[in-house]
Amino acid sequence: MTTIANNLQQVLGRMAQACQAAGRGPDTVQLLAVSKTFGADAVADAVAAGQRDFGENYIQEGVDKITALRAAMPGVELQWHCIGPIQSNKTRLVAEHFDWVHTVDRLKIAERLSAQRPEHLAPLQLCVQVNIDGGPTKSGVAPADTLELVRAVAKLPRLVVRGLMSIPDHAPDFEPQLAIHTSARRLFDQILALKEPSLEQFDTLSLGMTADLEAAIAAGSTMVRVGTGIFGGRN
Ligand SMILES: *Cc1c(COP(=O)(O)O)cnc(C)c1O
Repeated sequence: MTTIANNLQQVLGRMAQACQAAGRGPDTVQLLAVSKTFGADAVADAVAAGQRDFGENYIQEGVDKITALRAAMPGVELQWHCIGPIQSNKTRLVAEHFDWVHTVDRLKIAERLSAQRPEHLAPLQLCVQVNIDGGPTKSGVAPADTLELVRAVAKLPRLVVRGLMSIPDHAPDFEPQLAIHTSARRLFDQILALKEPSLEQFDTLSLGMTADLEAAIAAGSTMVRVGTGIFGGRN
């Protein structure tokens, strides 16, 4: 078994254990393998081990890998998630190549993504990024402005609003990790509770990385984004 296959099994094991500890079903959390900085060969190893969803931060790097994997493994359906910051001049690449985007925190970016999404592709699946711990220089919409942005994005024709994403500051211990992830969960639940018809597919809470996936799952994450735990350390 390759190292990546072995690492994947370990991460899936951690997720299963965290689900059990939280009294959640084993299939309630999806694994997004974050392949940024690693090559197409590493992604291919993970695909061979059964992984299908991949996250990329740097858009051109992601597009290169998407193209390489499609050529190397024709017929294998992968889902590519953009999880990095998006400048206006990069929206077209995202709209034309990715399946999901987790990092929309301004209406202008969503409008461009919708306008640029090619007709022959399924609508782009989108999470609104929330700045849940409020750092002034951080990406993400303020919690108080989140519902308004979610509603505005839901009106755009070529996008489907799937949920919320956040990247809280690193905390070393489980309890503070759980506390901050739980604030994201509360915001998610408040929006869900409105049962708005335009938010029918609002079902995704993208929370947790290698170091804090247990706390994220305890808080209610439905998608953890794991890089180091699968592919190893980055330079
Ligand atoms: C890099 C990155 C991850 C993965 O982080 P690890 O600590 O390597 O698991 C997850 N989410 C985002 C947004 C990232 O940029």
